[in-house]
Amino acid sequence: MVVTASDIQDACRGLGLSGSALCLHSSLRSFGRVEGGATAVIEGLLAEGCTVMVPAFSWAFAVPPPVDMRPPRNGCDYDREAETPQYGVTYTPESTEVDSHMGAIPAALVTMAGSVRGWHPFNSFAAVGPRAHDVIDEQRPLRVYRPLQVLADLDGWVVLLGTGLTSMTMLHLAEKRAGRTLFRRWANNRRGWPMMVETGSCSAGFDRFETTLASLERQTRVGESLWRIFPARATLRAAAQAIRMNPEITRCADPECERCPDAIAGGPILQTSIAPGLRP
Ligand SMILES: [Zn+2]
Repeated sequence: MVVTASDIQDACRGLGLSGSALCLHSSLRSFGRVEGGATAVIEGLLAEGCTVMVPAFSWAFAVPPPVDMRPPRNGCDYDREAETPQYGVTYTPESTEVDSHMGAIPAALVTMAGSVRGWHPFNSFAAVGPRAHDVIDEQRPLRVYRPLQVLADLDGWVVLLGTGLTSMTMLHLAEKRAGRTLFRRWANNRRGWPMMVETGSCSAGFDRFETTLASLERQTRVGESLWRIFPARATLRAAAQAIRMNPEITRCADPECERCPDAIAGGPILQTSIAPGLRP
């Protein structure tokens, strides 16, 4: 069985997603064979009037932590983080570099005509379609999940194409909504100097949200790929509520995890006494 762009379009219409903003977390491999590959999946959704957003993470733009930017309870071992290679590379939204583990669909999307990419060095989102600028334009290093908030505000959808809840970045925004401070990591600012930027915590335990989100989910199959769709606004609200009720819900199964305990404790303790403008 070969999946075509028109199969994608039919599935999109069947799920009632036409004209909506979508955040895809995808495994192209989950489909079996797709005629036209990753681009055909995106084009099938665009043909239904959707705005297609993806995480387009690019950790090669991370740099080691400067000694004066190491907040406590930040879910990391600073000695090990200090070994991050320093390439001195400065990200720009025109970059087409995407981590290979993000998959073929984000890699294709960032090269498409009309695609828009956010201003976050290694956790950018990218989008194509009619609302692309609306969802992407306000992303900043310290507003990493702004695109997901806009997605919720637009009554968009989180769409898992052959992936699971451990891929659902919206659950990190739910952590913030529940009152946690997001972890800080480091990258060069536009002038090439290190700055702190927001990033997500550990997502290895996110399958534990299955029960919380079950009543919101709808599913279909396209080729061999299981599509799971979640309304962004209600998902964010339900997940944040679940974290407030039981902060342990985000804890992964690894007793050695250095991120989960710090995230559950509330995230990094930021020094607010140093005015950011006083940095060199
Ligand atoms: Zn963990």
